[in-house]
Amino acid sequence: MEDVIIIGTGCAGWTAAIYTARANLNPLVLSGTQPGGQLTTTTDVENFPGFPEGVMGPDLMLKMQEQATKFGTRVEYKTVDGIETNGDGTFTLKCGDDTLQARSVIVATGAAPRHLGLPNEKELIGHGLTSCATCDGAFYRDVPVAVIGGGDSACEEATFLTRFASKVYLIHRRDELRASKIMAERALAHEKIEPVWNTVVEEYLTDDEGKMRAVRLKNRESGEESELEVACVFVAIGHVPNSAFLNGLVDQDENGYIIQQAGRTATKTPGLFAAGDVADHYYRQAVTAAGQGCAAALEAERFLSDHE
Ligand code: NAP
Repeated sequence: MEDVIIIGTGCAGWTAAIYTARANLNPLVLSGTQPGGQLTTTTDVENFPGFPEGVMGPDLMLKMQEQATKFGTRVEYKTVDGIETNGDGTFTLKCGDDTLQARSVIVATGAAPRHLGLPNEKELIGHGLTSCATCDGAFYRDVPVAVIGGGDSACEEATFLTRFASKVYLIHRRDELRASKIMAERALAHEKIEPVWNTVVEEYLTDDEGKMRAVRLKNRESGEESELEVACVFVAIGHVPNSAFLNGLVDQDENGYIIQQAGRTATKTPGLFAAGDVADHYYRQAVTAAGQGCAAALEAERFLSDHE
């Protein structure tokens, strides 16, 4: 029986691990399918305190992992399919054919990129459709590409893609960006980035080999339809929380975000805590996720000592 199992290895998960490890709770961290979380798919992080020159997202995550394991955190590369409560208030976690037992659980599973829900999207992923410019941008040198979205992610992806692509179309459904001023200005000032305002993508069009060839666009104001040739589409329209495996042990809002109790990281199930983007649709920052990881660790520690 583990004292605490932490599910997820983003900023929230590693911070919870650092705190619970230093509290001698010998945490077990389950890494999930994307070890390191969302920051592993980003480049420069300029707003994490303590790094005046910025830090690369993957480097920051490796440092957090190093810090957590230095204090005795154990890591297993497992994905949790479901959690149940046992009669005595402990938890059973199902990971494929394995089961794990824990007295407390911190859910820090983050959120996954959202897609538009167009028919041929699944087949196109990896063939000209992606959510990660850092991962796939270099494959699209000297060709036009498109980014969909108007937030910080879309601006960041578009700016990064100018290193490779001949042209970056920034397709946004409104006529003003949601992104922070600094990121929006940086993107819009770049000569390779062309905004396509008030426009939605209605269809991904493929070539004979089934790869992305173009997008069919619709202007939301005029209703006019057009085709835009692009070799790759980078979708940056937000995220969906990774909370589906929790089988009713937590309350969730209409978008699946876990609802925390009484302004803390507690959920409606005693001993089950939630931290980071899986429970936060409002701030969604690396540093706020880390802060919640710390809070969840402190709450788990108090829960365990109250239930010796
Ligand atoms: P976001 O802020 O939620 O922006 C999502 C964008 O996608 C919005 O512009 C939205 O349009 C658009 N969108 C949503 N659904 C759509 C649909 N079905 N079709 C077309 N467009 C759609 O998400 P994000 O950009 O991923 O940012 C998430 C959080 O991470 C934010 O808090 C952001 O500040 C943070 N972040 C920070 C950094 C950084 O500081 N380095 C980098 C990336 C992200 P509307 O504007 O019309 O709603």
